Amino acid sequence: MSRIVGIDLGTTNSLVAYVDEKTGLPRVIPDRDGHALLPSIVSFANEGVLVGAAARRQLVRRPESTVYSVKRLMGRSYEDVKEELCYFPFKVLPCEGIVKIRIGSREVTPPEVSAIVLKSLKERAEAHFGETIEKAVVTVPAYFNDSQRQATKDAGRIAGLDVVRILNEPTAASLAYGLQRIREGVVAVYDLGGGTFDISILRVKDGVFEVLATNGNTRLGGDDFDRALVVWLLDDIREKHGVYLGRDLEAMQELRLAAEAAKIRLSSDERTALTIPFDAFTYHREITRSELERLIERLVDSTLAPCRMALADAGLASADIDEVVLVGGSTRVPLVRRRVQELFGKTPHSQLNPDEVVALGAAVQAHILAGGITNMLLLDVTPLSLGIETLGGIVSVLIPRNTTIPTNARELFTTSVDGQRVVDMHVVQGERELAKDCRSLARFELSGVDPMPAGMPKIEVVFLIDANGILQVTATELRTGKAAAIEVKPTYGLSDADVERMVEESFAYAEADVEARLLIETRNEADTVITHVERALAQGSHLVAADERRAIVEALDALRGARDGSDRDLIREATTAMNHATEHLAEIMMDAALKGALASRRAGEIMEK
Ligand code: ADP
Ligand code: MG
Repeated sequence: MSRIVGIDLGTTNSLVAYVDEKTGLPRVIPDRDGHALLPSIVSFANEGVLVGAAARRQLVRRPESTVYSVKRLMGRSYEDVKEELCYFPFKVLPCEGIVKIRIGSREVTPPEVSAIVLKSLKERAEAHFGETIEKAVVTVPAYFNDSQRQATKDAGRIAGLDVVRILNEPTAASLAYGLQRIREGVVAVYDLGGGTFDISILRVKDGVFEVLATNGNTRLGGDDFDRALVVWLLDDIREKHGVYLGRDLEAMQELRLAAEAAKIRLSSDERTALTIPFDAFTYHREITRSELERLIERLVDSTLAPCRMALADAGLASADIDEVVLVGGSTRVPLVRRRVQELFGKTPHSQLNPDEVVALGAAVQAHILAGGITNMLLLDVTPLSLGIETLGGIVSVLIPRNTTIPTNARELFTTSVDGQRVVDMHVVQGERELAKDCRSLARFELSGVDPMPAGMPKIEVVFLIDANGILQVTATELRTGKAAAIEVKPTYGLSDADVERMVEESFAYAEADVEARLLIETRNEADTVITHVERALAQGSHLVAADERRAIVEALDALRGARDGSDRDLIREATTAMNHATEHLAEIMMDAALKGALASRRAGEIMEK
């Protein structure tokens, strides 16, 4: 049985843990200096690559070649992250749907940077056990989409680790607390780290976890607290010393580190002093906890809406929550604890070190997978709905959001154009009615379809989400029997991936979206009628009188005009008028068709005799 370690690959800090065979308890593996937390920072110096604390020391001296918070870039496109790039002193460039980081003449991808962090943890574990480590459970925020999860697996592969399971961080945390021992109950896991916020509502029953709902914000964490404090310090420095340091990279990094250190001290102290020696002057300032709280209050309060949304998705009230678990270094901030306690009306669990619980839980999951613990099941849910774009850009959802995974779904589709040989498949993720407002996940072609009239082909689309939350889509044309299976590689080329915003927008635009969907459906109906009438005119216009023909053509023009407008009632009226104008023609043609059919049957009967 090969050993599997648990790894928390964090935005800010990463850790590796294992389950001690003797005690059965999970433990983090410290480095030679006794530090469990490895800062997720990589510095590309001329002499070689530095990682962790050594890289962190380069933040000030080499800001352009020291990469931090790379988790924010994992599996994302330039479009996704361009607004955040102003916070990074290193150069981020678009590159075939993903981003690359330019360090001098060198270019690296986010998974390559993460792999350096993973490799360092792998080596730490290997030194600890005196054996090669090849397998790991790696955690990701619950809101990571498929591409971000895939990028995380890639990082493992590059580091020489087989990522046997991608585990949601809140799920891991609940395992670390051993909450499987509760006979039955509902747990809220509140995880505020350096760069991400996750809230998860889990049900525990007879040793089984089920994630009822998840929500959060992939762009909120302790980094934002630091930033708020830095902005405040910049103002104060300008007032006191008459200089604005906002464009000085080195000074900004210095300020960032000083701000974070002060913030951390203010979690235990009521007031603290800040001294930063710059070249021209030394900046000194006292700051109190309540001053900090005023700066970050809005950020802290913004975590409460996702909590309420998760509760609503789970169909629960805050009074239904039995246990609250705090995860992430930022939950050490007293204001955060107060707000969480107020919201749920109970004292949260915080016995375990909040920045270690995720790694500890990953170790427990690794132990389960390695066969150390049996009869425990872990269920997760899909953070966003998954579907296919259909005619007119409408989304057909196959797997609704918050569906327990692993899961699969299948649905039948058909073509809208006669003789179609190639069917474009567009897989989207999101809560909006129209594909253009959702996140584009993958596009592929189902080709080699036998030409058939529109509506005849039967295209079966199957969605499969495995236990790691990775999505596979296949499309098969059933009628011809020639099953063409398609493999979808989750692309890194993504549009908007901010899940929280997408969910919020789905509420904000609900009415407009439904209206847009109804308009498209009405237009699709009109298009079908137009096609039928055009075909009927081509085949049977000689069957009706000239003025009747003229009336049909006029109704057709009117319908075409209405169809291009956006007045749903007008399109429907024109469609009705069109049907009315062609009633007689349809009757005649039906008659002709029937007579033809009868005639041939008679002919057949005669022949039989
Ligand atoms: P991540 O999961 O994003 O890697 P962590 O859970 O390690 O992050 O949390 C890192 C964040 O926690 C940083 O923003 C750090 O400043 C913050 N943090 C750590 N300790 C404290 C503390 N005592 N008080 C306030 N914030 C803290
Ligand atoms: Mg974390």
